[in-house]
Amino acid sequence: MKNGSQSRLSTARHEKEFASLRDLSARVGGNPLLVQASNGNTSIKLDGILWIKASGKWLAHAMQEEMFVPLDLVEVQQSVQDEMEIASPYTPNHELRPSIETAMHAVLRHRVVLHVHSVNAIAWAIRLDGPDLLTERLDGLPWQWVPYAASGIPLAREIQKAVASRPETDVLILGNHGLVVCGPDCHAAEKLLGEVERRLAITPRRFPKPDTTVLAIIARFARWQFPDVDLLHALGTDAASRKILRGGVLYPCQAIFLGPTMPLLPPAAVISKFTWSGQDTTPVFVAVERSGVMLNEKMTSAERATLMGLVHVTLRTEESARLRYLKEAEVMGVLNQGARGYKEILVAEEAKSPSEIGQFDWQPKTISKRNENHRESASSGRHRQHQRGV
Ligand SMILES: [Zn+2]
Repeated sequence: MKNGSQSRLSTARHEKEFASLRDLSARVGGNPLLVQASNGNTSIKLDGILWIKASGKWLAHAMQEEMFVPLDLVEVQQSVQDEMEIASPYTPNHELRPSIETAMHAVLRHRVVLHVHSVNAIAWAIRLDGPDLLTERLDGLPWQWVPYAASGIPLAREIQKAVASRPETDVLILGNHGLVVCGPDCHAAEKLLGEVERRLAITPRRFPKPDTTVLAIIARFARWQFPDVDLLHALGTDAASRKILRGGVLYPCQAIFLGPTMPLLPPAAVISKFTWSGQDTTPVFVAVERSGVMLNEKMTSAERATLMGLVHVTLRTEESARLRYLKEAEVMGVLNQGARGYKEILVAEEAKSPSEIGQFDWQPKTISKRNENHRESASSGRHRQHQRGV
């Protein structure tokens, strides 16, 4: 990579380490069970410079795009101490702003820090009994639980407190948020991430298949389409997932990308008065009880990736689990303090380069074809035979 930022890598060894970070970032970012859209961030500390992923960038693109911002580590640490916003004096490209989670990376002593929104980790991190259950799962690893705090300085301060008494900590479970894994180099951090993921792994619950009869009514309205993967239907067909979603917001990305309340409708509401058809208030998806999910064709690939992540989490969470939802003030904090700006970057980027990543079919022609196929299937009753089949 030839650019302004590379000139700050003083030795060939550092260039190699930086290349390893990009390589690892792309691998981690390419795993939808670890990272969804632009969430997750990685960093490396080299010669007093903290290289941190830029806000709004997708880790999955780390090999194709410049996305790491070089910051003076001591200055960032001082900003955290003073509770000041982190400046980015070394940013060669003004479009790159350091991640909102930069402060957290700066207060950890490790050379390499990986922060992911692992769906397995989140499924533990939303449980009130998470710390107890993880004591057994993570036994022998230097780990700690950090209760929910807003991203930025508040979370960094909580982490600072946690590691002050146990500096050997390499793994942090962030309540209602995700996972942090650290190491002296990329190889060690990736190996530890693999071990933690192995221990946190939960087999997702199977869910009933969609019933397209009611969904076909929505498909007749402009801008609504059937999802291209059955997994998304679980938010409507899986009773436990519906119950979990009714409880509120489980983690910040859910509120940022999908809104503070989930659009769950009973089938009767669709049949009698479905009116969402392109107004500003139209949600990006709608889940119909026992039927499945329909997507707003204006849904961005970031919103879709977040929705997929949410399904992965709810299918890994037992109906009987006692969960900690974000408090109203915490949700408001997420939506009002910088999060909106964060999302605006994503939307602007997508406008420039439509989703190469999204495995999402954006062609209106094909969408109507997909809806057409579903209508035919629904009317012939073939799909209904499969409903609640598992
Ligand atoms: Zn995060």
